[in-house]
Amino acid sequence: MSTNPPNLRPDLAPAPIFDPTRRDSARSGQPTIGMVSLGCPKALVDSERILTRLRAEGYAISPDYAGADAVIVNTCGFLDSAKAESLEAIGEALRENGRVIVTGCLGAEPDYITGAHPRVLAVTGPHQYEQVLDAVHGAVPPSPDPFIDLLPASGVSLTPRHYSYLKISEGCNHKCKFCIIPDMRGRLVSRPVHAVLREAEKLVQNGVRELLVISQDTSAYGVDRKHDLHPWKGGEVRTHITDLARELGQLGAWVRLHYVYPYPHVRDLIPLMAEGLVLPYLDIPFQHAHPDVLKRMARPAAAARTLDEIARWRADCPDITLRSTFIVGYPGETEEEFQTLLDWLDEAQLDRVGCFKYENVAGARSNALPDHVPEEVKQDRWERFMEKAQAISEAKLAAKVGLRMEVIVDAIDEEGATCRTKADAPEIDGNLFIDEGFDGLAPGDIVTVEVEEAGEYDLWGRRVP
Ligand code: SF4
Repeated sequence: MSTNPPNLRPDLAPAPIFDPTRRDSARSGQPTIGMVSLGCPKALVDSERILTRLRAEGYAISPDYAGADAVIVNTCGFLDSAKAESLEAIGEALRENGRVIVTGCLGAEPDYITGAHPRVLAVTGPHQYEQVLDAVHGAVPPSPDPFIDLLPASGVSLTPRHYSYLKISEGCNHKCKFCIIPDMRGRLVSRPVHAVLREAEKLVQNGVRELLVISQDTSAYGVDRKHDLHPWKGGEVRTHITDLARELGQLGAWVRLHYVYPYPHVRDLIPLMAEGLVLPYLDIPFQHAHPDVLKRMARPAAAARTLDEIARWRADCPDITLRSTFIVGYPGETEEEFQTLLDWLDEAQLDRVGCFKYENVAGARSNALPDHVPEEVKQDRWERFMEKAQAISEAKLAAKVGLRMEVIVDAIDEEGATCRTKADAPEIDGNLFIDEGFDGLAPGDIVTVEVEEAGEYDLWGRRVP
C-alpha cells in the first residue's frame, strides 16, 4: 500500500514530467480539476487513466486545491487506518476547495463517506472510472475546443474500460500560427519511456486491450530528453517514438498511434506496422497540401513531399489506414491553393479525413494574417472537400466487402455488437456492426468477422471461426 501526498499527482509518477509547483497554464475559462490519490497501485492506474482522459478532453489539471474547479479524491478503504486517512483527505479537500468527488475503494461504502462528509458531490466505487468521469462532467462541464483538445466533443461521455489513452508527452515545440497550444501548454515535455511503458503494462494487466497513444506531437516524443536511455525489462530503451512503439507492441494489446507528424523518421514506424506490432494506422494531421498555405501556417515539415512519403508507407505496409485532418479557408487561401488540396486528396486517397473551417482563436497569430476568407467561401470549400473525402471513404469501405478481419467489440445491446476494425479509432472513425450471432460477446473481445456490407463510414459483418 502506498500513498500519494496531494502535491504528487499520479500522472506524473514516478518522476514529474511537469514542474509540480506549476499548474497547467489553463486558458481562460478552461475547466480545471485537482486530484488526490491514496491507495494501492491499482487505484493509481485508475487515477492515471482519469487524469489522462480529462486532459485529453481539454481539462487542465491543478497540482493543488486552490486552482481547481473540483477535486477528485481517489480513496483507499483496505485498513481502518487507510479509511481514516481517506476521510481526512476528503475533509481537507472540502475545506480547501469545497467541491469534491470521491472514488476508489472507500467509494464502495458511500454511506460511510456521506455520513462523515455529506457535502461531497458524488461517490463512486473502485475502478468505476467511467462514473467518475460522468461525475466530473456533471460538476465541471467540459468546454471542448476543436482546435486544442485531443478528443472530439462527442467522445466526452463514456469510455469503455477495454481501451485507454496513453499520454506520452505534453506541449509542443512548433509554432503553427493557428494554434495556441505552445503558449498554453508550453514546450514539449516527454515522459520518460519507462514510465510510459510501466503505465501501459499496468493498463494491459488490468484488462485494457487497446492503447491509444496521444500527445500534441507524437513523432517528436523524446526530442526534449535527447532520446535518453532508460532501463526496461533487463535492457535499455531509448525515449524515442520508434523504440516506444516497438516496446508497446510487445505488451499484447492493440497499439494505435495518434497525432504523428509527417517527419522523415515516421517511415521507421511502418515496418512495426507491417510486422503486426503496432496497428497499421497512422493519424497524421497534414492540415493542407499547398506548400504556400503550409508555410503561412508555419507548419513543421511544410516542404515535405508527402505524396511520395504516403506511397512509400503503402509500399511497405499495404494495409495501412491513413487518417488526417485539414483546415480549409485558412487566411489567404486562394481557389487555386484549395484546388491543389482537392487534387492532392484525389491522389493521396486517405481513408479517414476530418476537416475544419478556419476560425480565429483568441491569441493565435493567424488572426493577424491578411485576406481572411469569407464564411460562405469557407463553407463551400468545406462541402467540396468533404464530398470528395466521403466518396473516397465509401469506395475504400466497399473494397472491404468479402474480406475477413479482426474486430474489437466496443458495446453490446439487444440489436447487436458495435465493433471496430483495426482501421477504426474509437470515437473518431467508423464502426463494424454485427447484427446476428453476437451472443456471448463482451466489450473488449477481439473476434474475426467477414465483411458483408459497407456504407459511407461503417461496415456490417458476421462472425467467422
Ligand atoms: S504542431 Fe502545430 S498544431 Fe500541433 S500542437 Fe504544435 S503548434 Fe499546435
